[in-house]
Amino acid sequence: MEYISTRGSAPPLDFAGATLAGLASDGGLYVPREWPSFSKAEIAAMAGLSYAELAARIMAPFVAGSLDEARLLELCRAAYGRFAHAAVTPLKQLDEQQWLLELFHGPTLAFKDVALQLLGLLFEEFLARGDENLTIVGATSGDTGSAAIDAVAGRAKVDIFMLHPKGRVSDVQRRQMTTVLAPNVHNIAIEGTFDDAQAMVKRMFNDPAMTGRFNIGAVNSINWARLMAQVVYYFAAGLQLGAPHREIAFSVPTGNFGDVFAGYVAAKMGLPVAQLIVATNVNDILHRALSSGDYSQGTVTPTAAPSMDIQISSNFERLLFDLNGRDGPALAAQMAGFESTKAMILTNVQREGAAALFSSCRADPDEMSRAIRWAWEASGELLDPHTAIGLHAARASGIAREVPVVTLATAHPAKFPEAVERATGHRPALPARVGDLFERAERCADLPGDYAAIADYVAAHAVPKG
Ligand SMILES: *Cc1c(COP(=O)(O)O)cnc(C)c1O
Repeated sequence: MEYISTRGSAPPLDFAGATLAGLASDGGLYVPREWPSFSKAEIAAMAGLSYAELAARIMAPFVAGSLDEARLLELCRAAYGRFAHAAVTPLKQLDEQQWLLELFHGPTLAFKDVALQLLGLLFEEFLARGDENLTIVGATSGDTGSAAIDAVAGRAKVDIFMLHPKGRVSDVQRRQMTTVLAPNVHNIAIEGTFDDAQAMVKRMFNDPAMTGRFNIGAVNSINWARLMAQVVYYFAAGLQLGAPHREIAFSVPTGNFGDVFAGYVAAKMGLPVAQLIVATNVNDILHRALSSGDYSQGTVTPTAAPSMDIQISSNFERLLFDLNGRDGPALAAQMAGFESTKAMILTNVQREGAAALFSSCRADPDEMSRAIRWAWEASGELLDPHTAIGLHAARASGIAREVPVVTLATAHPAKFPEAVERATGHRPALPARVGDLFERAERCADLPGDYAAIADYVAAHAVPKG
């Protein structure tokens, strides 16, 4: 499979190249040249596969030319063998229509493990074929950092530099990063906010002094391989609920539009998706874009669902590209306009195309708490705040009774115990597999919120290009 940039001028790459590159050189995002698709009979034949087998079957067309299906299956078995539940992403019923797809059984208790555990293995596989090292640089407000660090710790030929805003991530989140003592893991606490950290990472991706010396890679969801791995669990849930013979709706707690874009890809590949509900908190740029065509950046309001406190959703660009006839130069102009004015109006074609599959819903803190309480009272399930926003949107969607609605449960409730306890009176316990987190030693560099200091630190610890 060949990958092309949404902005039309970066060179096409194969799957291995797109995985190692992250962002395209024209500032765009890589997407497959075409969507592979499965017939109804092919989807029906997937029933009963293990998660790893299903993953290899779904992803094989995307990796063709870079990996054969047998090797892909080995990597999937290794990645998903680390999950604490034999079903990897088990489905739970809440009432006659509502279901939860639990994506938090990986090592760091957030759905990001599903894609990042595989991505770590893909990096190692592709780097082993050449002489180069990879320098991953990322910023995190919590979940991405811990999942990415767990996925690449101790792997050959890759270093990871993860910036987090000092004092602004939870103790659990910080310790999940800083207690990983593998020599290729470099945690950096910076003075400032998440946006400051993110801005420094973006600057490094565009700094020729750094990109000329190091192969800088990405682990956030601009990396196509992450979205690809997330397509699998839409099929896993759909198959259990009667696909390909029955339509299923999904409600997705959304920040960067990565997870829900994977649902769009699943629909393109033939999964009968009745609707994709984009659930946001009060940081509602996507709800405004999908309901009125107004994609304009507001200021970030901190909430109990911090992974959704986002005002620019990088992966929305992939949808706009696909809906606009895949016209790279037109999208490059539209994005340049957005980057200079921080606002854009979707074209009619984009609005109508999105409306055919997507709906959206914004939950305020009260609605979030009520959804946590409802799930607890209706079925004894404790939900984290992100999942609760998804469930609120699912229940408010008004989808016909005969269509099952699956809410993606994106984090374990014990990652956000205060909000859960406030809503239900019950404090969720950390699973035993992370139980000794508070006894382990930590390692982290403290740096000022200053680009030169960060760049010097990375340059002093990373392996230069060969
Ligand atoms: C990252 C994250 C999200 C948002 O996912 P996107 O792919 O960025 O839309 C939602 N919930 C949790 C718990 C997350 O960690």
